[in-house]
This record gives sequence, structure tokens and C-alpha cells, in this order.
Amino acid sequence: MIHTTEINCPHCGNNNLVKQGKTGNGTQKWQCNQCKKYFCLEYRYRAWQVGIKEKILEMALNNSGVRDTGRVLKISKDTVCSVLKKNRPCKSLLSDEQQIT
Ligand SMILES: [Zn+2]
Repeated sequence: MIHTTEINCPHCGNNNLVKQGKTGNGTQKWQCNQCKKYFCLEYRYRAWQVGIKEKILEMALNNSGVRDTGRVLKISKDTVCSVLKKNRPCKSLLSDEQQIT
């Protein structure tokens, strides 16, 4: 599969990579053709850095629009959308927990 994203192997820096499916939490898994090691791209985008996801969700809960959220956090609105899509089930889990306690 040909890909055009700028990804390099964290082990050897090579960009000759193959997609290897996804991990349980939906993170894209890659294998390096050079060193044959596997790695995930959880932190490929700024949005996946620690804390950003929480900020996106927090802003969403405060009724901030996707575009506003992206502008404030300096990330693309597509990224905001995908975070919100992925985390929607988590929100319902949260409210379930609140009902239990
Ligand atoms: Zn490598």
C-alpha cells in the first residue's frame, strides 16, 4: 500500500513503512521495512499529544464549535472531529459510571 504521509520509523528513521492494521484502541500500527520493528503513531499529530484530547472534549462539553476548538488548540477541525467521534462512546460510559455511583 502506498502512503504519502510523512512518517518515519522511530527506531531507525526510515520512511519505508507498511501498514499493519490497528491496535485495540484504533491506533494505526506500522511495520518498518528497514528494521522490521512495529510501532504505533499515537503521537503523529499534535492532537494526540497528552492533554489535547481532554481539551477537545472539555471544549466540546462547553459547546465550543469544532472550528473554534481547532482554532484555539491550533489543530485542524478534522482532527477535532475524529477525536469527538472516537470519544463519543466514552462519554456514554462516563454517564453510566455516574449513574452507578
Ligand atoms: Zn525502522
